[in-house]
Formats: sequence, structure tokens, C-alpha cells
Amino acid sequence: MSANDFDLIALAAAAVVAIGLLLVIMFRGRSAPGSERGPLAKTSDALGAALRRAWGAGLGEETWAEIEEALVAADVGVGAAAHIVEGVRSARPKTRSEAREELARRMKGELGGADRVLRLSGDPAVILVVGVNGAGKTTTIAKLARLLTGDGRSVLLGAADTFRAAAGTQLKSWGDRLGVPVVAGQEGGDPASVAYDALAAARARGADAVIIDTAGRLHGKTNLMAELSKIHRVVSRDGPVDEVLLVLDASAGQNGLAQVSGFAEATPLTGLVLTKLDGTARGGIVIAVEKELKVPVKYIGVGEAMDDLKPFDPGRFVDALLEEA
Ligand code: GDP
Repeated sequence: MSANDFDLIALAAAAVVAIGLLLVIMFRGRSAPGSERGPLAKTSDALGAALRRAWGAGLGEETWAEIEEALVAADVGVGAAAHIVEGVRSARPKTRSEAREELARRMKGELGGADRVLRLSGDPAVILVVGVNGAGKTTTIAKLARLLTGDGRSVLLGAADTFRAAAGTQLKSWGDRLGVPVVAGQEGGDPASVAYDALAAARARGADAVIIDTAGRLHGKTNLMAELSKIHRVVSRDGPVDEVLLVLDASAGQNGLAQVSGFAEATPLTGLVLTKLDGTARGGIVIAVEKELKVPVKYIGVGEAMDDLKPFDPGRFVDALLEEA
């Protein structure tokens, strides 16, 4: 064989390896149709690896301890993790697949029973969106407007975060992209009066829903909470507020939870939106957050694009988290 033949063989072998690698990468990223594993892959992979290790040890004491640890590592919360594992153990599964099924059932059970439907009964429906800066409030508002307009509803946005000029600009630019009107105030203006103006404009236009963005700075927290209470008071003068949605960054984990206790005191929360679930291996936070705040998760954010907000479905969510287990 000549040196040229060797080169050709080496080239062909390299090509086969490259194509093989490409196929592995392509198929690893694939999920079952309708699955949410794609965006939840980080959590699913981490939980799956830990559970496979646990299952590998058989179904003994150590396994249960490891599973509990894996759930805690995924931010499910210490109490909920213990409760889930205790439930699986007491069902006395005989095989790994029975145990896995029971685990899925128990995790879904932790999230069961809540009413997750977005209330839109007002005329217009009033949706207040609260949360700390950076959690993804503005993006979530745009995504929600997209969902509602996609359902044939007319929407108006209110930019009541007058503290940051950029927040109003950002909301206006989303409004332009979505073809949705935005009412904004002057920087430093009274947020409650912007909220009121947005509601009045929505009424005048006969809009089906008005979604109001609010400030989320954490310093001067007392003022912020007083401001949120005032906005809520003002917009509920002539009719009920349909939803107060707290937007939470899932990747902020348990620390993030500690930051938001004040919001629940300032305004009666009706729903949670967990954002950035695509960027974290700790998607179990959904369970912890619902238990802690006692408010249902209504939507999850799974990316930065306009269509990356999904109604929260516990069954699909848990199946996606356990897809690799
Ligand atoms: P706000 O300060 O609470 O209004 O937060 P923004 O809406 O400006 O969002 C902060 C950053 O988080 C932006 O870069 C968003 O694109 C990003 N973001 C929001 N939601 C998601 C999500 O579900 N997934 C990912 N990966 N990024 C998100």
C-alpha cells in the first residue's frame, strides 16, 4: 500500500468517526414528541445520573438515601424530598421500574390539585406582574402577551416600572414586535398612576386584558412593597385584579425564594411563573416554591424567545424530569 492509500484510509476513518459523533449529538438532543425534556435536559440529566447510580445499588437503604439526596440536589426541597421518598419506600416497589413509576406518581402528587388556569374574567382582565429585577418579568410579560394574542385576545401592556427607564423602553420594544400597545410613564413618575392609565386605556380600547409590569429593585425594599400595594389598590378600585403573578428565576434556587417573601405580603399572589428552567439543573425548585409560597405555578419559562413560555403541566413536567432516570 502506498502512503497515499494510508492517507485515504485515515481520511475515511476520520469521516466515519465525525459522522458518528454528529449522529450521537443529534439523537442525544432529541426527545419524545411533546416532551419537555429538551428545555429541562439539565435537570433531567443530573437527576437521571444520580438516580441511575442509586438504582445501581439495588433497592436498599442506601438507594433511598441517594434518591433523597438527588431530589434535594435538584432543589425539590428537603421536606418534600423526604416525603416523596418515604412514599415510594412504603409502596414497597420490587423492581427499579416499579420504584421509578412510584417516584413519578409521588412527585406528581406533590404538585397535584392546584388550579393553574389563568383567570381572565375581568373586562378587561387585569394581570399584575411582580418580581425582583432580572428574574425575567419583562420577557415573561411579552411571552404572555404572545400567548394571549395567539388565543385571539387583545392585550395592552402597562410599563409601571418607572424607576428604570430601560424597563419601559424594553417593554415598548416588545410591544412593537408583538403589535401590542404599551402605556408608559415618565421616568421617576408615579407607578400607580401609570398602572391606572394603562387600565383606563385598555378599557377605552375595549382590550381583553391589560398586563402591568412593576418595579423589582430590591434595595429600598419597604418602599417597593408599599408601591406594589398602592398599584394593587389603585387598579382594583373599579374591579378585581384577576391575577398577580410573581416571576421567579428558577436558577436562583432556594436563595431566590428567600428574596421574594415580601411580595406575597405586599400583594395577594395568585400564581407563579418560574423562568430560566432551561438554564438550571435544579428544576425541582418548582415543587419547593409551590410548597413554600402556597401559590400555584401557572407558567414556566424555558428560553429567551417569545414562544418559550409554557402553561405548567405537572404530569409532563415530572415525566420530563424523570425521562433519563
Ligand atoms: P426583568 O428585569 O425581571 O424584567 O428581567 P428581563 O425580562 O429583562 O430578563 C432578564 C434576562 O433573563 C434576559 O436576558 C432574558 O432574556 C432572560 N430570560 C428571561 N426568561 C428566560 C427564560 O425562561 N430562559 C432563559 N434562558 N432566559 C430568560
